[in-house]
Amino acid sequence: MTYVPGRNLIFLSLAAAYAEVLGASIIYFGANVIDYSGYPDCRPEFIQAVEAALQTGTKAGMQGNGIEIRAPLLRMSKAEIIRLGLILNVPFQLTHSCYDPVGSMACGQCDSCQIRKQGFAEAGVVDPIQYAVC
Ligand SMILES: [Zn+2]
Repeated sequence: MTYVPGRNLIFLSLAAAYAEVLGASIIYFGANVIDYSGYPDCRPEFIQAVEAALQTGTKAGMQGNGIEIRAPLLRMSKAEIIRLGLILNVPFQLTHSCYDPVGSMACGQCDSCQIRKQGFAEAGVVDPIQYAVC
């Protein structure tokens, strides 16, 4: 299990503070349905609750300039996300999803590595990174 207490709440809080400083009105958040079971902070209810908190807990929100959180990957399969990434020329060779890397390499065994591997397999695409354990 790779659950990290408060992880997305912390990330969204930092993003919201920065958005308010910049005067930005939208935060893009990479949450995904595949992550629901073990990650309660990837659920639509969580996103809506954070938006409500930002509406009432920021000066921008109180002035009617609330910060919206968009999660465009929320309901896509991992394979669909990978195919979209290919269209957008995402440098997948520079990415990994690992929670327990070995040096600079993804472990290949944690839940996140397993989900990534399955997504690439389902997309019919070779994952360009090397794993410490295949
Ligand atoms: Zn891993």
